[in-house]
Amino acid sequence: MIRVFIVFCFLFIIVNSNAQELELNGELKPGNVIIGKAVGGERVLLNEKNLPISEEGLFVFGFDRDETGEFLLQVKFKNDKVILKKIVLPERKYKVQKINRMKKELVTAPKSQNERIVKERKIVRAARKKVGDVQEALFAEGIIRPVKGGRLSSVFGSQRVLNGTPKSPHNGLDIAAPRGTPVYAMTDGVVHLAADNFYYAGNFILLDHGHGLNSSYLHLSKKFVAEGDTVKKGEKIGEIGTTGRSTGPHLHWSVQWYGKRVDPAGLLKYPFNKSE
Ligand SMILES: [Zn+2]
Repeated sequence: MIRVFIVFCFLFIIVNSNAQELELNGELKPGNVIIGKAVGGERVLLNEKNLPISEEGLFVFGFDRDETGEFLLQVKFKNDKVILKKIVLPERKYKVQKINRMKKELVTAPKSQNERIVKERKIVRAARKKVGDVQEALFAEGIIRPVKGGRLSSVFGSQRVLNGTPKSPHNGLDIAAPRGTPVYAMTDGVVHLAADNFYYAGNFILLDHGHGLNSSYLHLSKKFVAEGDTVKKGEKIGEIGTTGRSTGPHLHWSVQWYGKRVDPAGLLKYPFNKSE
């Protein structure tokens, strides 16, 4: 009887440790970011590319809106064990969103604004270059929705047709709420940019959460952080507004892994998210 019990315990440990060794939070599909946990892991590679991994075994990777193909995830553990996982991305379909009666100058920027737009693009590019500087897994506390309540007015990925002209796809999630509604940091982060009244984005904030994960908060009426600040998950960083190219008070919330555009809604589904 004791022997049976010992064998049972042994089996249980093997099964249990396998289940805990590699945990992937998030769906393996285009436009999604996955937060992995490999306790005791020391190296993670996605198609031969090394990904940063924290002491606790946390790592991140993501797929762009229209990414396709096969990927190989390799996790190497301190005890020399290796877990290989093949990922085949399914096709993802997006909505077509038609917006009519939009002010002409908002659909196509007037020539007089070109110089300003070019200058603003350079500032954004320089700030985006800093993404990846944060080595710590600041996202370890989990993700929260940056607005309490509000109405989802536009989802990620929609193909936009403004006044009949096809434009680039919507790369964020829009939450409509009254001007002045608080906007919170989705998780701990470092402020790389707190921009003033940009032509498209209005007042906006770019946060780096470590390992390439970053989030942006656009069209704000007010912002309460400056470049170089550190913020905590749930900290009030601004208020909803309609600055920049916007037709009413809302937050455009976007998330990227390095430069890959992902659906913020996917991040709210991680089982490891802790409540506020
Ligand atoms: Zn938007």
